[in-house]
Amino acid sequence: MKLTFLGATQTVTGSKFLIETKDRRILLDCGLFQGSKELRLRNWEEPPVDPKSIDAVVLTHAHIDHTGYLPRFVAQGYKGPVYATAATVDLARILLPDAGHLQEEEANYRNKHQLSKHQPALPLYTVRDAMASLELLRPVQYGEVVSLSGSLGFDLLHAGHILGSSFVRFREGGGDTQKIVLFTGDIGRYDQPIIFDPASVDAADYLILESTYGNRLHADKKGKSGKEQLMDVVVSTAKRGGTVLIPSFAIGRAQELLYMLRQLELENKIPILPVYVDSPMAVNAIDIFRKHVEEHDLEMEQLEGSGANPLYTQRVHFARSVEESKAINEHRFPSIIISANGMATGGRILHHLTQRLPDERNSVVFVGFQAFGTRGRLISEGARQIRIFGVDYPVRASVHVIDSFSAHGDYSEILRWLAGFNRAPRTTFLVHGEPAAAGAMKDHIVASHRGWNVEIPAYRQIYDIN
Ligand SMILES: [Zn+2]
Repeated sequence: MKLTFLGATQTVTGSKFLIETKDRRILLDCGLFQGSKELRLRNWEEPPVDPKSIDAVVLTHAHIDHTGYLPRFVAQGYKGPVYATAATVDLARILLPDAGHLQEEEANYRNKHQLSKHQPALPLYTVRDAMASLELLRPVQYGEVVSLSGSLGFDLLHAGHILGSSFVRFREGGGDTQKIVLFTGDIGRYDQPIIFDPASVDAADYLILESTYGNRLHADKKGKSGKEQLMDVVVSTAKRGGTVLIPSFAIGRAQELLYMLRQLELENKIPILPVYVDSPMAVNAIDIFRKHVEEHDLEMEQLEGSGANPLYTQRVHFARSVEESKAINEHRFPSIIISANGMATGGRILHHLTQRLPDERNSVVFVGFQAFGTRGRLISEGARQIRIFGVDYPVRASVHVIDSFSAHGDYSEILRWLAGFNRAPRTTFLVHGEPAAAGAMKDHIVASHRGWNVEIPAYRQIYDIN
């Protein structure tokens, strides 16, 4: 068997791994690179493997850094099945066409303003490409064993990260020589509302492990919970007459935020403000939660009674159309806006930032990991001005980072998950972490699991795992 690391190596985006056996070639995740130009250019290169040579693609979850390259991969010739959990399939049906739409919009914008060296600028892929890739999606249930050949199969386990997220566990061969290769995708957190805990795993011969927060703990320095930090920001911003802007994935993450805001409203800890979920993907997420009871621990009775819906704040509005989105800009009274994407690399959040960043009454709250080179990273690290659509905007709004809302486990949670192993994997490969995070995660693992062999692969590095 052979493993090739084609993305998420010493970075958190572009998740892509090739697993090869004697007669099968499987691509694990098909993610888009985001962040610095050097990374983004990789999306435009020749595919790192010939799409026609791949027998199957397996996706861990719907985030674009794990799925957003799929339309391009299909446009370049991939025709096989794409396996994922049913919820991931449903989310991808919304997300990938939206990603295609954003790619087309960006290309149009560049052409209109002559911002490209290429005439005309082309999108990485179109809505049509995205729709074509959806045809290949095959839903898989948690625990269902999918056979890829006489000797190779896999199953999916709860990863606890977002709705539909999974670990992928490959088994190759049988009996004493059976090999298990487990890929975590993104590992979620313990004891979070709505989403289940990561499934415990006791064995793998080769482990491909994420390390986003390998050098960080989520607990606030003052010991405040995420909920308390959110309360503080909402109360102080509303007092100033400002708006709280939260860049976030619009489905799943947005509902977790709404759930928290609703609790704060019911406890009379924040004023009742209009809450706008601004995204073309702001479908009635209730349907997705109702459809995927296997994914969460909300009580169905709660979901059924719309009067007491746990995923609605008292004045929630979903803006789907561009007109509805633009109308939000007209509102200058205190409000809360949740809009994608979470790292401010694209999407409607950019328009809200241009509107809200220059006013010191407003707040911007980051609730997810901000990759190197993204606007989200620059703003959260204190940039005084930020370039959006070729214009520099001053950052006068107050900026907050609430790490404890992250959908990724911190290093203590990953160590807790690793404690479930009853034997050391032959090799643990650390991926999906910037160099400092992956390096620190390696130190933490070696310190608490003596004798574990931990590797941090480089881009396109190949390992023989026979
Ligand atoms: Zn993710």
